[in-house]
Amino acid sequence: MRLSIKGKFVAASLSIIFLMSGLILFLLGVQKSLESRMNEMIQTNLSAIRKAEQIKYDIVLYDDLVFRYLSTDQRPFLTEAVEALEEAKAWIEDMKTIVQGETEKEVLSDIENETLRYHKGIRKLIELYQLNKAVPAPQKIVDKRGFLDLFSPLQAELPAPPKRSEVKGKENIAHASAVGKSRLVRIYSQCEKIVDIYRAKLDNAQLEMNQKIARTRRAVLITGGAVFLLAISIITLLALEILSPIRNLLTGVQKVASGQLDLELDVYSSDEIGRLTQHFNSMTRSLKEKQERLIAETITDPLTGLNNLRYFQNSLQTEIGRAHRHKRSFALLIVDIDYFKTFNDANGHQMGNVILKEVANIIKSSVRGDGICARYGGEEFAMILPETDAEGGKAVAERIRSNVEKTIFPGQDNQPQKNLTVSVGGATFPQNGSVASELFERADQALYKAKNSGRNRVVWA
Ligand code: GH3
Ligand code: MG
Ligand code: MG
Repeated sequence: MRLSIKGKFVAASLSIIFLMSGLILFLLGVQKSLESRMNEMIQTNLSAIRKAEQIKYDIVLYDDLVFRYLSTDQRPFLTEAVEALEEAKAWIEDMKTIVQGETEKEVLSDIENETLRYHKGIRKLIELYQLNKAVPAPQKIVDKRGFLDLFSPLQAELPAPPKRSEVKGKENIAHASAVGKSRLVRIYSQCEKIVDIYRAKLDNAQLEMNQKIARTRRAVLITGGAVFLLAISIITLLALEILSPIRNLLTGVQKVASGQLDLELDVYSSDEIGRLTQHFNSMTRSLKEKQERLIAETITDPLTGLNNLRYFQNSLQTEIGRAHRHKRSFALLIVDIDYFKTFNDANGHQMGNVILKEVANIIKSSVRGDGICARYGGEEFAMILPETDAEGGKAVAERIRSNVEKTIFPGQDNQPQKNLTVSVGGATFPQNGSVASELFERADQALYKAKNSGRNRVVWA
């Protein structure tokens, strides 16, 4: 990821905020839609119930006022009754705009028809009543209210047997009253039916709404859980993204602290930790180079570039151990420049140094790659020739001697033989010695012999 740690934190925080906001908006949206649907549903059903109740009320009121009019013969009751009926009709019309189901429509149309018939019946009743005004209304009837109890149960209480025409009129009144009563009962019960239908609808809708709320709650729980898991995953990924390179870096630091410089850490990111890892790698590389240079310096003779005495001694011990383990032999040579003091005296110390370097080069080029060449003292050199017996050793020694002899060095004319030469003493492990000091002593003795027997020669122990 090409982001800084700060950038990663910002990106992670923004995505979590985005997820959370999405969830909250979703919740608000769901809540709002549930609320509005609930309100709409309650309003519709309640208004239907209210209208049905209103129709019922107006019809009963109409009936009551008609009866009052009939009982008292006061016109205002009739006027009010007509108003109540008109209102009932208006409510029926109003109701038509909201009913939807077939049953409700049928019931409403039944109410409408019954109301019209009922109204006709009432008109007829009023006419009959006016025709029969001569028949006195019993006192009890006046106290009663409504069509329902108007005449039928009270026929028996009439004071005297009426005349024939009167009886006929009263019978007609009773019949009209009974028909009216049954119509009123029907209108009443149909209104109740509508109320019941809408109550049931309200209950059903409420049940449905509750189920919807439960479903929504489940969905919210699942979505919330998913958002939570997503947020945790983002945080974990971020932590891993930051922690693994830190752990990688820490391992590297521990390795370097324990002296292991031969390592290159993988750079996982380009953030601060990635850059730190890059710096760490270049620091380790530079430390390693310095260490290698230091090591080289500690084992190298600065003038000739050959190995120094310390390195040579360690190598001799190592080679003895190795040859001993593998039951192999190796050769040790000591080379000393002849009359070097004379050379220095004649040509100066600086020129002497030049000669030392040149002789070192001749030695190096005369020895195989696995041979170890060192400047052992002032103008003395020593060599270890692994896997080499006396014959092989003598051959290398002779090669060195002869190469030096053949080389024309500046200032060699002042040497006793007008030539700069070397003497070589050699010994073989394990034949001439099985420990370093013994072996070296034997080679040195051989060199001494070479010097004493005229120099510029090879003597083997
Ligand atoms: P021999 O043939 O017996 O070896 O005679 P020699 O003169 O070479 O031996 P000696 O031991 O008497 O002298 C060694 C000389 O090597 C003495 C010293 O001036 C010289 N020498 C030692 N180290 C250095 C050096 O680093 N540079 C130079 N230029 N000369 C050195
Ligand atoms: Mg010497
Ligand atoms: Mg010498």
